[in-house]
Amino acid sequence: MICEMCGKEVPQTKTVIVEGSRLNVCPNCSRFGEDYRASQSGAPISSSVIEQRLEKREKRMKTKDIYSGSSSTELIDDYGTVIREAREAKGMDLEQFAASILEKKGTLSKVEAGALVPDDKLIKKIEKALGIKLTEVVQSGVTVGGGNTNNKMTLGNFIRKE
Ligand SMILES: [Zn+2]
Repeated sequence: MICEMCGKEVPQTKTVIVEGSRLNVCPNCSRFGEDYRASQSGAPISSSVIEQRLEKREKRMKTKDIYSGSSSTELIDDYGTVIREAREAKGMDLEQFAASILEKKGTLSKVEAGALVPDDKLIKKIEKALGIKLTEVVQSGVTVGGGNTNNKMTLGNFIRKE
């Protein structure tokens, strides 16, 4: 790449505004102009390190927007296992558990087998009775905190990974 100001061959040029016109200049000459990206928000024209950084920052900001934006609470995939393990940890059999929350044993056995999806009311009841959490917050296709209990991913370490 050739600096349009001094004509020197350089590995990378920077786009700056010099007296109203756009020039691709070497880092040394760029101090004479105004940063193109700072004065305009157009698409990147060259892939300078600074522009790549800007793109990354834009991506990060978009990610952040997703987090502060849409989210929904959904039932975890292995709710049946979680319920059964929590119930067994409390030393209750299905019958005792069903009686304790005034539900049918058959209903709960289906729920534990993953064959029946409990409604919100039943979820709340089971969560309260066993002291567990059966829902997770789902954000735009990214599953947080759910699924495999051995490999739990919290929102916190998801952000740290980025
Ligand atoms: Zn130059």
